[in-house]
Amino acid sequence: MAYRSFKAYLDTELEKIRDAGLYKQERIIHAPQAASVAVEYPEGNPCRPALNFCANNYLGLSSHPRIIQAAHDTLDSRGYGMSSVRFICGTQDIHRELETRLATFLHMDDAILYSSCFDANLGIFGALLTDQDALISDRLNHASIIDGIRLCKAKRYLYEHADMDNLEFELQQAQVCRHRLIVTDGVFSMDGDLAKLPKICDLADKYDALVMVDDSHATGFIGRTGRGTPEHFGVQDRIDIINSTLGKALGGAAGGFTAARQAIVDKLRQHSRPYLFSNSLSPVIAGTSIAVLNILDSSTELRDRLEINTRRFRAGIDTIGLRTIPGQHPIVPILLGHLPDDARLSQEFARGLYEEGIYAIGFYYPVVPQGQSRIRVQISASHTPDQIDSALDAFARVGKRLGAV
Ligand SMILES: *Cc1c(COP(=O)(O)O)cnc(C)c1O
Repeated sequence: MAYRSFKAYLDTELEKIRDAGLYKQERIIHAPQAASVAVEYPEGNPCRPALNFCANNYLGLSSHPRIIQAAHDTLDSRGYGMSSVRFICGTQDIHRELETRLATFLHMDDAILYSSCFDANLGIFGALLTDQDALISDRLNHASIIDGIRLCKAKRYLYEHADMDNLEFELQQAQVCRHRLIVTDGVFSMDGDLAKLPKICDLADKYDALVMVDDSHATGFIGRTGRGTPEHFGVQDRIDIINSTLGKALGGAAGGFTAARQAIVDKLRQHSRPYLFSNSLSPVIAGTSIAVLNILDSSTELRDRLEINTRRFRAGIDTIGLRTIPGQHPIVPILLGHLPDDARLSQEFARGLYEEGIYAIGFYYPVVPQGQSRIRVQISASHTPDQIDSALDAFARVGKRLGAV
């Protein structure tokens, strides 16, 4: 039986992952996703209450009453599934309406939906570029961008993270190609740092390149009205393509999209493989996402509250004396890399927080570079000031006990 030797091989591989301390164990939540959840961990143990500080639920919409109501209403009016790809019989009025609304929200000509932003990134490059073209990509871009680039025949140029001199050098190398596309995450998920879009756009102008931003960690809350990093930097009309997710701030269910200039979206609809060969987004998600945009269009209250919460948490961490990377993003890394045995410390720190009822994750090499272990905190608009203060108290106590402050 082929499986017997294959299993032996897999068991060895899994053992290696365990030995390296990298085996991922899932924590099971017995409740809607929210600021306060009930968590079973390790699996089989009784549930305990925890304040959630590791969700991408930036605006608190994952189980917002208006969102749940919109989902019920759409389920009743449009059903549950489409059982088809878009171009056969998988397009409802609400799928088109959502695309138009997303495009308007982001000041783009049009948008195209996918089942995830991962799919949007897998499907974009091969549909737009050929072996005559060039892709110029930040080394720390999201895994789905890296995989999408692998599926495309364009020449690949990688620049060091956020290094604009290196980007310029790579753009010079890429001048031999027909078209150039610079691609960057809008926000990088480990440090919460923003791409240097004004400089990237300047270089794109100078070297005749298109610019694509994956704004998954920004759409809905970064920028004065939540339009993302291009709004934050005032470069909205200089970006050609925005990919983003419906699975983070915009309700958190699933789904992704490309919002771009018209001919780009038109070409994707003809040739993007995850769009052509994978099922339509559930009507429930399409309809509910329109309700999300209605909320965001009517008021900036949620993103404003998120900004206030983030400031409160960041100021508290500074007061405690823990290290972080200065910034304004609700991703707040608590750095432990300067301490001895930082990888183990990050896990002990996360465990200590969990015992205090705070749910946050510790990351260490190779998820982050060597010597950059950390606890990554993510703030939400749904956290109350009291909840943020309890998290800060827990950080202070655990930090003191482990010698981190
Ligand atoms: C989360 C994320 C994705 C994946 O989005 P999904 O919709 O969950 O597939 C893609 N790119 C970036 C930058 C992300 O942060």
